[in-house]
Amino acid sequence: MEKSAAPPVSPEDWVARSLRAVWHPCTQMKHHERLPLIPVARGQGAWLYDRAGHRYLDAISSWWVNLFGHANPRINAALKDQLDTLEHAMLAGCTHEPAVELAERLSALTGNTLGHAFFASDGASAVEIALKMSFHSWRNRGYADKQEFVCIANSYHGETIGALGVTDVALFKDAYDPLIRHAHVVASPDARLAQAGETAADVARRALDNVRALFDARANRIAALIVEPLVQCAAGMAMHDTSYVAGLRALCDQYGVHLIADEIAVGCGRTGTFFACEQAGVWPDFLCLSKGISGGYLPLSIVLSRDEIYAAFYHDDIARGFLHSHSYTGNPLACRAALATLDLFASENVLAANARKSATLEAALAPLAEHAQVRNLRQRGTIFAFDAAIDDPQHARTFSRRFFENALQRELLLRPIGTTVYLMPPYILADEELALLAERTRDTFDATLAEAR
Ligand SMILES: *Cc1c(COP(=O)(O)O)cnc(C)c1O
Repeated sequence: MEKSAAPPVSPEDWVARSLRAVWHPCTQMKHHERLPLIPVARGQGAWLYDRAGHRYLDAISSWWVNLFGHANPRINAALKDQLDTLEHAMLAGCTHEPAVELAERLSALTGNTLGHAFFASDGASAVEIALKMSFHSWRNRGYADKQEFVCIANSYHGETIGALGVTDVALFKDAYDPLIRHAHVVASPDARLAQAGETAADVARRALDNVRALFDARANRIAALIVEPLVQCAAGMAMHDTSYVAGLRALCDQYGVHLIADEIAVGCGRTGTFFACEQAGVWPDFLCLSKGISGGYLPLSIVLSRDEIYAAFYHDDIARGFLHSHSYTGNPLACRAALATLDLFASENVLAANARKSATLEAALAPLAEHAQVRNLRQRGTIFAFDAAIDDPQHARTFSRRFFENALQRELLLRPIGTTVYLMPPYILADEELALLAERTRDTFDATLAEAR
């Protein structure tokens, strides 16, 4: 076929057209009058390439989703095969191999404790599904008064109206406050809250006391507590001691409250184990997965739950069933991408390799601990973060955007959360890439600080 003779569109034109027609997520669009927008042309491994031929190391895994690189040959091959087999079929009244196999394999990864997989397409929906299931299962069992939820200070569980009810990030929530049914907010176990002489475990103990006090007063009204185990990512990579998660499990058991583990960001190996909960030695009643589970390829989320939850819905009466659906529930392509992702975990001993890569990156970043304007250099699994100490509030406010621009000039895609710089790279970085990432992160930081002087 003849190629059309239209003149090539320049990278600048793509950006201009995007800014007219595309409303970008989590963005004040007016900032793009100055802030660059990367016209991504293609991806390969850990790198994104723009239309002008520049490359950027995707050091935040494209919003924490990409685990094994862009255009991963094995995921690509699985998807191409699936495309010629079955692109989609509804999951009510029908089933298909990718959904069944994925449900079974995820169940096996929990030692068959969480044996029932409910599918959706995004993280916020998974959170809402867990909340609805918790409330409804209590009601089906005769505890209709259990209608309240508990979340942790600074928690993030998504931005739909229901998910905002258990999210404690003012910037995302305040504008919609009148629309939201608020959860109870309990103290944060963030290890940075340690007072002189305190350990992270001490902070966790204090935070658990706060949960116990709330449960003492109201457990008969509370359906579930939701937690991001080990790392509250959107809060600025706030990390806590594993004893906090184990303590929550014990309190939830003692007081008859469901525990929902939102592993949307921390699952799939991010914290060093496949599920973050494994490090606390406990399983929740509901576990939400999304982001990395499809390798960063397709929208997919999953809520895993226990037998007793499932049994509470199993009845002749349709209204006692879980009547929740999304059009693309269990999409075969997305499930197949997830299966290919699990295959990569199984065949390449990813967690052990990640531990080695993380140690390398940790060592390369270690000099930052001596930097006069660095606080709380921290790491868990493949998540690295530090806080910039900036006195001038104006500079603190614009730090993230300026850092982003300075990073782009150094071939890095990094987007600090406020004044917290973090790295959450894909699992495939070679030693040279790890070294480059550490060195240029330090350079970017110094360049961004220098602008303030
Ligand atoms: C990203 C995220 C969500 C929301 O997922 P979306 O797919 O963006 O709706 C929920 N919880 C946590 C912990 C997340 O990091």
